[in-house]
Amino acid sequence: MASRYSKIQSTLWTSDKFNAAKEFSKIVYLYLLSCPHGNSAGFFKLPEGYATTDLKCSQQRYENAIADLKSVGLIEYDGDIVKLLENHQKPSGFGVDHWNWKGGITPQNARIRHSAEYRTWRKSVFKRDNFTCQKCYRVGGKMQAHHIKSFSLHPALRFELSNGITYCVKCHKKFHKENGVN
Ligand SMILES: [Zn+2]
Ligand SMILES: [Zn+2]
Repeated sequence: MASRYSKIQSTLWTSDKFNAAKEFSKIVYLYLLSCPHGNSAGFFKLPEGYATTDLKCSQQRYENAIADLKSVGLIEYDGDIVKLLENHQKPSGFGVDHWNWKGGITPQNARIRHSAEYRTWRKSVFKRDNFTCQKCYRVGGKMQAHHIKSFSLHPALRFELSNGITYCVKCHKKFHKENGVN
């Protein structure tokens, strides 16, 4: 888990663009930098409500900050896809390697993951994301539905459509390698 919070480089603090941003915009930018849902090319597709829930702010306040970040030239966006224009993230690979997917499955969780409800949830996630990996935007192939708020720690959100996101196997594996198992 520590890797989530150690990805930002100190170059950020000397960026003219960053320093030109408003106070709350800076927080949103830091959030984007540390958010585990970006890919290595600096692209993000945040599921609706994800940022506002984490930041505990209104949609309007979030949108204002995003617009401000665009006006100072830190980001570009198209709909809900955000691209970071400056690289202040540390290269990946610094994360603690504790990917042990199989080890995280208890018999009870395994049963849930094979249930009809789970399969339906997974199918809805793939459908909503147009069978496209939300990290590398590869379409089709072997897809997996990842739980944004962890499967084990948030049982109430297990079958919540908004809590799922489509990743290809490669990106999903990489995500858990860098962020730990959930
Ligand atoms: Zn992918
Ligand atoms: Zn996952």
